[in-house]
Amino acid sequence: MKIVLLGPPGSGKGTQAKILSEKLGLKHISTGDLLREETKKETPLSKKIKEILDEGKLISDEFVFEILKQNLPSDNYILDGLPRTVSQAKMLDDMVKIDFIFLIDVEDEFIVERIVNRRMCPKCGRIYNLKTNKPKNDTLCDVCSVPLIQRDDDNEEVVRKRLSEYHNQTEPVLDYYSSRLIRIDGEKPIEEVTQQILSKINRL
Ligand code: AMP
Repeated sequence: MKIVLLGPPGSGKGTQAKILSEKLGLKHISTGDLLREETKKETPLSKKIKEILDEGKLISDEFVFEILKQNLPSDNYILDGLPRTVSQAKMLDDMVKIDFIFLIDVEDEFIVERIVNRRMCPKCGRIYNLKTNKPKNDTLCDVCSVPLIQRDDDNEEVVRKRLSEYHNQTEPVLDYYSSRLIRIDGEKPIEEVTQQILSKINRL
């Protein structure tokens, strides 16, 4: 099974992808995570990537696909964070046949509040929210017990920039997919969002 999760930054794509990948035995492929891994390398290219990420802008389609191809299995995965442009959607269609395309729908006002409170485990990638999905111990990952981090691009200024990139570049992808798109109410609690998705793929 191949699933694409679309939605604005902070809509819960990463959280849902993690839960679904465990429940359904699918590989979770987050292009954002793959790009953040790239920034850890000490090369001129990795510095450039970090600059673009920190500004909340998009990385070129060519580079994102180069990294994607290195990490894409032949089947059984969830794509989180791609496609982000119509050209990426077309490139993906040329490569594979996706079974389910979900839009996790959330209004902008919700998102800013959500993202500034978001924390992430640097080891397993699990995502927390200091208000709505707190770790058991204040600052540590429930599973790995390592200190949670805040992503460099999870501040209000960059979030607004990322939201405007989403409206300009990614919303046209929703029209591109219109007949195949399954809308999910992303403002519901995490478990309910998961249930909505599972019911659509008949895995409840
Ligand atoms: P995310 O973790 O999905 O919020 O992505 C974080 C950042 O990585 C984005 O703000 C973009 O700068 C970059 N990024 C992730 N996926 C893509 C993509 N498919 N195309 C271009 N840039 C991307």
